[in-house]
Amino acid sequence: MSQARQALEEMGIDPFNVEIQKILSPTEARIAGRKVLLAGTNNYLGLTFDPRCIEAACQATRSEGTGTTGSRTANGTFAGHRALERELAEFFGCAKAIVFSTGFVANLGVISTLTGPGDTLIIDGDSHASIYDGCRMGGADILRFRHNDTADLEKRLRRLGDRTKNTLVIVEGIYSMLGDRAPLAEIVSLKKQYGFWLMVDEAHSLGVLGQNGRGLAEECGCMDDVDFIIGTFSKSLGAIGGFCVSNHPELDLVRYASRSYLFTASPSPATIASVRRALQILAAGTDLRERLWANAHRLYEGLSELGYRLGPEPTPVVAVHMGSKEETLACWKELLESGIYVNLVWPPAAPKGESLLRCSVSAAHTEEQIERLLTAFAELAHRSAAPPSPDTHE
Ligand code: PMP
Repeated sequence: MSQARQALEEMGIDPFNVEIQKILSPTEARIAGRKVLLAGTNNYLGLTFDPRCIEAACQATRSEGTGTTGSRTANGTFAGHRALERELAEFFGCAKAIVFSTGFVANLGVISTLTGPGDTLIIDGDSHASIYDGCRMGGADILRFRHNDTADLEKRLRRLGDRTKNTLVIVEGIYSMLGDRAPLAEIVSLKKQYGFWLMVDEAHSLGVLGQNGRGLAEECGCMDDVDFIIGTFSKSLGAIGGFCVSNHPELDLVRYASRSYLFTASPSPATIASVRRALQILAAGTDLRERLWANAHRLYEGLSELGYRLGPEPTPVVAVHMGSKEETLACWKELLESGIYVNLVWPPAAPKGESLLRCSVSAAHTEEQIERLLTAFAELAHRSAAPPSPDTHE
């Protein structure tokens, strides 16, 4: 670990610890002294600089202060926390909502409270770290199925027999590394057959999928079949925080039993106010989502035409499969030097032991910025051995 870290330091810039000297907009920043186009932010709707969200945050800070200075259990619930929970429940058409300080602790708190010894958790092999950690904390048996492989999931369900009734299956709306959707309609059919509970983490799909931006469950028309939806405020909603919505009364237990709710400070007034405003913007129309998808399709198609091997389907997360760790690092650095910031992903964060350059697209990217990104990847392909042969497309 320390050797790898030293090698990165010797390179002059550590890709896992990049300093943003100044953030300029949802799509631009100054890094290492130069202006850089940001294409690895998860800022899907580009709302971080929306004047309406900024104004809501400023007003809340002026009237309610900069922080809550403690957990809701100890220090009390602010009216804004309750209001946001009501608004989230309404947005998803669910009876209950609970807000957490981050999406990470939402997964820890909900999964570890709802399940325990004697229960079984079945999760996709490519699940986010917070899902893995939440599962470990609860003490239930944990099974993994091959990424997006419903036949493998069914094999595990069959072996469980009667225990499927005490089983929670967890999948993600859009997987954060490869950008592919979970096969939710098929998983819901399995749920009808085997009677398990189903949770979907819509961290990367909230505001991105579905007619009203509710996520993959909405897109697949199966909101009623999903027992728990987890989400984050840190991506499409442009702030920080997490939540869970559900029709199950059990969700209330989480407020009394989840350590990641009980023992951490609640979101600040500014955060709550900007998230409430962002949720209104998200719910009010489809224009941001349409722009996001136009950008996502253009980038995916452009990179495919250049011969790059990409994630399985076009979404706002565009994963570019690269070669070895060292080659991928060199390409990442070259892109940064040409003024483009994307995410460097090494195993084990990248599935199947491959290294990735992960791009994420925003509604705030202009067409010209997407073209600039494509030009940089074209130059990269020209200069280095990349891209890998198109015959190896998945
Ligand atoms: N779930 C998934 C699928 C994620 O990708 C992430 C963050 N990348 C989280 C949960 C955690 O969200 P947060 O950043 O709000 O802690």
